Amino acid sequence: MSGTLVIAGLGPGDDALVTPEVSAELAAATDIVGYIPYVARVADRPGLVKHASDNRVEIDRAQHALSLAAEGRRVVVVSSGDPGVFAMASAVFEAVEAGPRQWRDLDIRVLPGITAMLAAAARAGAPLGHDFCAINLSDNLKPWAVIEKRLRLAVEADFAIALYNPRSTARPEGFARALDLLRQTCAPDRVMIFARAVSTPEEALRVVPLSEAAPEMADMRTVVLIGSSATRVIARDGPPLVYTPRSVPV
Ligand code: SAH
Repeated sequence: MSGTLVIAGLGPGDDALVTPEVSAELAAATDIVGYIPYVARVADRPGLVKHASDNRVEIDRAQHALSLAAEGRRVVVVSSGDPGVFAMASAVFEAVEAGPRQWRDLDIRVLPGITAMLAAAARAGAPLGHDFCAINLSDNLKPWAVIEKRLRLAVEADFAIALYNPRSTARPEGFARALDLLRQTCAPDRVMIFARAVSTPEEALRVVPLSEAAPEMADMRTVVLIGSSATRVIARDGPPLVYTPRSVPV
């Protein structure tokens, strides 16, 4: 089978943060498949077919991309950030595992991108400089009880934590519950970073103690970073520097 399927990360927004490897694949593609705003980031050119679809149809989109590749086309599935972080790469592999045998023989490659938490962390300083984890706060694909358990145990293990998909307009109550859980288990001065639309013209970064955090500070364009108990804020004129020290004292 001669078709190829590349699953590529476009980074957090700024074109300067798209890797040269991804740019080269986009330039060579015959077809771009993905969620509408991500497909829109790829420039039009003669011979390029764009297949933009709505959110929440990841498996249909993955199957479509695999069918195109099986016809011999050179397909790039685009995700924001990194395609392996709460994004299309897993959806494609779910479709491959459940799909026709010949899909396994396609040339399938995943090209990494800069994920939101790393772009946000870099803006703030080095809040993820020691052990950390990432949790998807969306309960579309898992029960809320699982999210709450993982958050509780991550706090208990004293990880710094990145929360993706923190607060949708359809279900805003989840993030408020997560904040309640944090208030019950962390000191009021626990560092919180609300990083919105990082590396785009709408970028906004807020660093606040947990005691001042409010549900409205997050939306679906925000990644929320929660410091560990060791995370420090260096105050200065202008935005503070936030970092987590490399070591834990014995
Ligand atoms: N694959 C993407 C994540 C997709 S889930 C990645 O690796 O970044 C979508 C969530 O990612 C959003 O709800 C938000 O929490 C986060 N996100 C994506 N782009 C972002 C950006 N530029 N700034 C802040 N958060 C972002």
